[in-house]
Amino acid sequence: MNIALIAHDKKKDDLVQFIIAYKSVFAAHTLFATGTTGSRIIEETGLSVHRFQSGPFGGDQEIGALIAKNKMDVVFFFRDPLTAQPHEPDVSALIRLCDVYSVPLATNMGTAEIIVMGLKRGDLSWRKVKQ
Ligand code: PGA
Repeated sequence: MNIALIAHDKKKDDLVQFIIAYKSVFAAHTLFATGTTGSRIIEETGLSVHRFQSGPFGGDQEIGALIAKNKMDVVFFFRDPLTAQPHEPDVSALIRLCDVYSVPLATNMGTAEIIVMGLKRGDLSWRKVKQ
């Protein structure tokens, strides 16, 4: 399955730790990330990640484009709800597209735990039969 990984700056440590904790699950899938998030994941987990532009430079939109083509199956987007983002419209657009295409989206660690358990158990296999 294709998994998108994005974290705002103050949430990058959390996402990296989360991926380390569930490395065996993530290693079984194809990983994509915005630029800086992707660099951190590659450096600190050793996993292979396809990197897009940094979020403020269009990375969120690149991931959104894949969602619009129904090519992204799960999105982990650890948002920082306490800091204004220069690319807030892109953030909203990405979240909106997940809803348009019924793509499972975790915006915090709590939901991420549930989704990663689902990934491990194969609960999201229905994504494979999408049109
Ligand atoms: P980054 O982008 O991974 O390049 O920091 C994330 C974001 O802010 O959307």
